[in-house]
Amino acid sequence: MKYASSILTVLLLAAFSAPAQQPEPADLILINGTVWTADESQPRAEAVAIRGNRIVFVGSVAESGKFIQGGWRPDGAHAGQYSLTRVIDVQGRLILPGFIDNHTHFTQAGRLLLGLNLLDVNHADTLRQRVAEGAARLPAGAWLVGGDWGAYAQWEMSSAGKGPDEARKTREREQEFRPTKELIDAVTGDHPALISRFDGQMHLANSLALKAAGITRDTPNPPEGEIVRNARGEPTGLLRGAAAELVRKAMPRPSYEQRKAEALRALEEARRWGVTGIHDNSSFESLALFQDLQREGLLTTRVWARMPLSDWEKVRDYIAERKLAAHKGAWGDGFIRLGGLKAWVDGIMGNSSALFWEPYSNNAASYGRLRPVMSPEGNLQRLMTGADRAGFTITVHAIGDWANHILLDTYQRVFEQNPARERRHRVVHAQVLDPADLPRFGKLGLVAEVQPYHCTDDMRWMEERIADRSKYAYMFRSLERSGAVMSFGSDWPGTNASYYPINPLMGIYAAVTRQTLKGEPAAGWFPAERVTMEEAVRWFTLNNAWTTYEEDSRGSIKVGKLADLVVLDRDIFSRPARELLDTRVLFTILDGKIVHEQKP
Ligand SMILES: [Zn+2]
Repeated sequence: MKYASSILTVLLLAAFSAPAQQPEPADLILINGTVWTADESQPRAEAVAIRGNRIVFVGSVAESGKFIQGGWRPDGAHAGQYSLTRVIDVQGRLILPGFIDNHTHFTQAGRLLLGLNLLDVNHADTLRQRVAEGAARLPAGAWLVGGDWGAYAQWEMSSAGKGPDEARKTREREQEFRPTKELIDAVTGDHPALISRFDGQMHLANSLALKAAGITRDTPNPPEGEIVRNARGEPTGLLRGAAAELVRKAMPRPSYEQRKAEALRALEEARRWGVTGIHDNSSFESLALFQDLQREGLLTTRVWARMPLSDWEKVRDYIAERKLAAHKGAWGDGFIRLGGLKAWVDGIMGNSSALFWEPYSNNAASYGRLRPVMSPEGNLQRLMTGADRAGFTITVHAIGDWANHILLDTYQRVFEQNPARERRHRVVHAQVLDPADLPRFGKLGLVAEVQPYHCTDDMRWMEERIADRSKYAYMFRSLERSGAVMSFGSDWPGTNASYYPINPLMGIYAAVTRQTLKGEPAAGWFPAERVTMEEAVRWFTLNNAWTTYEEDSRGSIKVGKLADLVVLDRDIFSRPARELLDTRVLFTILDGKIVHEQKP
């Protein structure tokens, strides 16, 4: 045995006496890149080396060779597979930290992508076509649900808004669109269908769905609803108002198989656009699904699973029962973390329910409305006080100027009442602000969790609805100057009135141009609120890591950090902003692994 162990000693000595400074080989090296690191101590580089799930080197191509056993090949052609290391020559392309999205609705996104997205549909042929495609993607027998047709009927996608006459004309056109069950029966096969118009006031059921609900020519109309019938008295499939409830009651919950297929489709979309982390609006059900996907090695984005604020005690108990590992400000592992909580003060702009000091400019009777969590009075403050004491990060939706004021007041009272601690609480959307409230973001140390693409899409109806107050909408520059921590994301997939893509390049485009996808208005919409390209990228990466207390482990390209990176097909910093709309993600690297790869 003595002999054997001395051989081992000799071998070990040999291993350690390899050339001085020779580090352990890397698994992957990206070379000849324009590396934008988000790290102020080393803003730019040419090469990044990764071992396991960590970044082990950021610097020059020449130096990165020391992470290859035996060094670079003498012929100068560096790319390719070495004994232990894969080397990719990215040929001058841009390498960025992986994007982190501050606001997703992952479950709804999967449902929309796998099932039906009819937001931009207002014509029989396209409706039938989309329904056929959705039916082909869904598991056998699954219900086709939702779709929200007609959302872009009044103003087409990427419109900068039109005069009232044009708006009325298109609204009339939209009202003329009356699909019937025969239109979709032919393409839905064994899938019952209950699809909706964006305003939720009209639905279309196919024959299978009517049958499942037991609706015949003899079924009476429910109160506040109508089973629309043809001249012969037969149901046409159209269900107005509460009549859709008759079908909804007969609808089973989506199967696990369907939910998983939806999640996989959503993950595919996220990695295609370089999103390596999401701050999701989750439920216990979606949390369990994320955990299943992680166990199976299928989870290709990190998830900060934000739960309803009203459930904060349940979340606290869940963390304790499962003994989730505690990190600064969060609980979980490197992939799925709890710690964020979500509530709502008011409604949304999409259906004119955001809450304003003054009535809507196109509806003098309406100021918008508060959400249920706001009553009884003091309820939101009570929930926030408890959750703040328990160490959670609170994130609350506020869109109208009055709603934002109410929320700032509530934060102020909670902070006065609770012992001081490090907090990274958020105002979610912070969409239209009373300028007098701006300084309070900095004073209270709040994060402005904003989604810049809202500006590009909402422009179509903002001025009709809130007129001059539009200049106080999406005040990204002013918020940043007020001292708010800026955080960017998408709100993917949007609402029943809008589609918001997850692609962060679209968000960056919106923030730096404040134009529609068609480039209107030429000077930008309230252009004083534009931000720089570097700011926009930082607010989609490092700042979002900071908001979840992960600035030391990700969000920038730095030795020791988790290897979450993207390679874009061009250098967005040196190209016109318009090119952001054509920019593609060539590689998405998550935890050191390539999870998306596309040929340039
Ligand atoms: Zn949202």
